[in-house]
Amino acid sequence: SPTVIWFRRDLRTADHPALLSAAERAESALALFVLDDKLLRNAGPARTDHLHRCLRALDAQLDGRLHVVRGNPVAVVPEIARAVGAGSVHVSADYGPYGRKRDAAVEEALGDVEFVRSGSPYAVAPGRVRKGDGTPFKVFTPFRRAWTEHGWRKPAATDASTVDWVARRGGERLPDVEPVADPLPLWEKFRDERLPDYKTARDRPDLDATSRLSPYLRWGLLHPRTLLAELGDGEGDATFRSELAWREFYADVLWHRPETASKNYDPKFDRMEHDSDDGRFRAWQEGKTGYPIVDAGMRQLLAEGWMHNRVRMIVASFLVKDLHLPWWMGAKHFMDHLVDGDLASNQHGWQWVAGSGTDASPFFRVFNPVTQGEKFDPSGDYVRRYVPELRDVRGKQVHQPHDPIVDHAHERQVALARYGAIKS
Ligand code: FAD
Repeated sequence: SPTVIWFRRDLRTADHPALLSAAERAESALALFVLDDKLLRNAGPARTDHLHRCLRALDAQLDGRLHVVRGNPVAVVPEIARAVGAGSVHVSADYGPYGRKRDAAVEEALGDVEFVRSGSPYAVAPGRVRKGDGTPFKVFTPFRRAWTEHGWRKPAATDASTVDWVARRGGERLPDVEPVADPLPLWEKFRDERLPDYKTARDRPDLDATSRLSPYLRWGLLHPRTLLAELGDGEGDATFRSELAWREFYADVLWHRPETASKNYDPKFDRMEHDSDDGRFRAWQEGKTGYPIVDAGMRQLLAEGWMHNRVRMIVASFLVKDLHLPWWMGAKHFMDHLVDGDLASNQHGWQWVAGSGTDASPFFRVFNPVTQGEKFDPSGDYVRRYVPELRDVRGKQVHQPHDPIVDHAHERQVALARYGAIKS
């Protein structure tokens, strides 16, 4: 009888440990994906569309054999396993707060049908790397050191032919959207052309200098192990490896402290005074704050479902320290729109900027949106690309505030005073 491979954040067939483990147990497998309304109801159109396009790409790899159903996995997965007479269900382990609980419930509901976890979305599974005394790391650099020393296994040699796929059995029809492009050639082009300059160029939103692989890593179309195996000793390689380590660090932090998806990692920030929203949140969401680099970033998010990392930091700092609104409001907006929206990287990226998270990110480092713009978008090209009403303003003059909703110098003082009040 066939087995079931339940795809989640691993929408690929290359370098896929769960395929190997399924192939060891059965000659054929049903490929399953469950559209879980609980996970999807907060996703905006760009995020949902990206998922559909990733599923179309996986379905194409499987010659149209991906079985997609909608429903609660706790009910649906055991039902399908029984219908095909499967002795086991194979997955890549999920380490997120929701996924862990869901999987425990599915495992119980499966009864005699074995639930087999192989691999994860990470090079090193969360919880694996610890300090000498067995406690989790709270600071990135020592984590990265231990993570590098721990190392990772070589890419698994799998492809679509590793398993004999059984025909799909009814289920949901995917919307008729274009499948996403294979990210592998994308990666190879970046590796050969951009990686050597990555260390310095990665901070420049006006240049196309980062890999833009985050939406693919999010759904596992590529595994980080595949990328790590191809990195060498160059400066750019080391920086890129380190960025992948941030992704793993935040997953590790969230695994140890699942409540930090919505709560401050540093509890002293529970006492931080926030403003109530008087319409400024909307101005921020729509990219109408009057600070050009902030507005460009927020409009890039709405237009593309993606934003450059430097600009993510600038707009996040602006929400928290200029508008005095809580980080989770911004994090939720990001999660609705980002095609790479990832709970661990997003919530902890936000907490890092807000100062309430891990690591040495002092609250008093308040980003100045004008000087940040001048420094990282020196010719103003990035702003002009996303803020059409400033297209005629030449050079870095474009970074000057334009009818701003708040005065940065004043709000900075307010933020620092509020921080002073909770510090002791
Ligand atoms: P590259 O520079 O090419 O980096 C390669 C990969 O390394 C990325 O694809 C990503 O997987 C990882 N990476 C790079 N920087 C970081 C980082 N700071 N933290 C964690 N992983 C990193 N990243 C997400 O994937 N999803 C999110 O929801 C997300 N939300 C963020 C929210 C805020 C407020 C901030 C400051 C950062 C957030 N990031 C998030 C991290 C980072 O901005 C993106 O990973 C990066 O911009 C993706 O572009 P890229 O693939 O071209 O990155």
